Amino acid sequence: MGLYAAAASVLAGVDSRQGSAKGLVYASGFQNVKQLYALVCETQRYSAVLDAVIASAGLLRAEKKLRPHLAKVRRGVSRNEDLVAAEGSQSGAASQVPRFVRVNTLKTHTEDAVDYFKRQGFSYQGRASGLDDLRTLQGKCFLLDALLPELLVFPAHTDMHQHPLYQAGHLILQDKASCLPATLLAPPPGSHVIDACAAPGNKTSHLAALMKNQGKIFAFDHDAKRLASMGTLLARAGVSCCELAEKDFLTVSPSDERYRKVQYILLDPSCSGSGMVTRQLEQPGEGPPSKERLQALAGFQLRALCHALAFPALQRLVYSTCSLCQEENEDVVQAALEQSAGTFRLAPALPAWPQRGLSTFPEAHHCLRACPESTLTGGFFVAVFEREEMPR
Ligand code: SAM
Repeated sequence: MGLYAAAASVLAGVDSRQGSAKGLVYASGFQNVKQLYALVCETQRYSAVLDAVIASAGLLRAEKKLRPHLAKVRRGVSRNEDLVAAEGSQSGAASQVPRFVRVNTLKTHTEDAVDYFKRQGFSYQGRASGLDDLRTLQGKCFLLDALLPELLVFPAHTDMHQHPLYQAGHLILQDKASCLPATLLAPPPGSHVIDACAAPGNKTSHLAALMKNQGKIFAFDHDAKRLASMGTLLARAGVSCCELAEKDFLTVSPSDERYRKVQYILLDPSCSGSGMVTRQLEQPGEGPPSKERLQALAGFQLRALCHALAFPALQRLVYSTCSLCQEENEDVVQAALEQSAGTFRLAPALPAWPQRGLSTFPEAHHCLRACPESTLTGGFFVAVFEREEMPR
């Protein structure tokens, strides 16, 4: 067996818990164990970035005979230059992500915003029929997104920060992927909702718009400064159904009477931010976060997720991160499902969305991933939890 194939089968063995990397390397019978062990360790070190590169490049679709681990090993850890090149092309793709603008339906109608831009000399191209329409968008043109009804799409680098409609809270500058959590939680008007890690509040304002300001959003964040700017954002956006609290979500009691009617929770916790477009553009060679940082983040994310699943009336929860790392995404979701012991299951998140969760456990395809190359958005991950129906 060649070096790459041997490394791929060791990695597959580690994933399916047949043994440790070291043990499997020695058991492989491969002649140069030192070389094999080095390749396996390096591949594991860059695993998150490689997964993202492979997924976004559509490598497994293009090369059907390539097994995931072989793709990963081949994709460049034996030559770090290739990895750097792959990351470079990622930051190239990041710079092509269109400017998405969510119309704040608490303050205006999508048609009125469209008319306003037409009067300003923008050419309206109608509703997009797919990603290709977004890819070719240029100049003073704009579209409506194919998937999200209130999302306007402008060419990459269009700066809207000084636009009067943005300053008046009629428009929210929000990446398409970041609009998915509230869209998928879909709380109807009148619901009681918790936004567990809420600041600076873009998703909270989206929830309020979907709820038409009817019902209640309990929004928590433990960071006073971020909460203060969230207050300004919500006031500008005309959100009136939200109660903001400076609180560690982990100390919010699920048995508190105030939350007895909470059927919906959005959990968008602190994460490594490895999928953020600004990060990919400003720090292209930064590399993946350290193992220690990922462990600490994932520890908090899992605690927060299990805590959220303990709210007694909860029916639906959306977990999201702007991270590309499996440790913060599929691994957290899988562990929470295991700990919830059959009380919750994953619901398919937008089945037609092209990029799915990494297949690290049987239901992972119900999760969705996003990235500049495959979905023309920032890097993102979403999982939707639904309470299992009680047998009658
Ligand atoms: N959902 C927000 C939005 O769309 O604007 C972004 C949330 S940001 C990814 C994560 C937030 O979680 C940060 O504002 C951070 O201060 C907050 N956070 C971290 N740990 C927390 C905790 N234990 N309790 C409450 N908030 C926390």
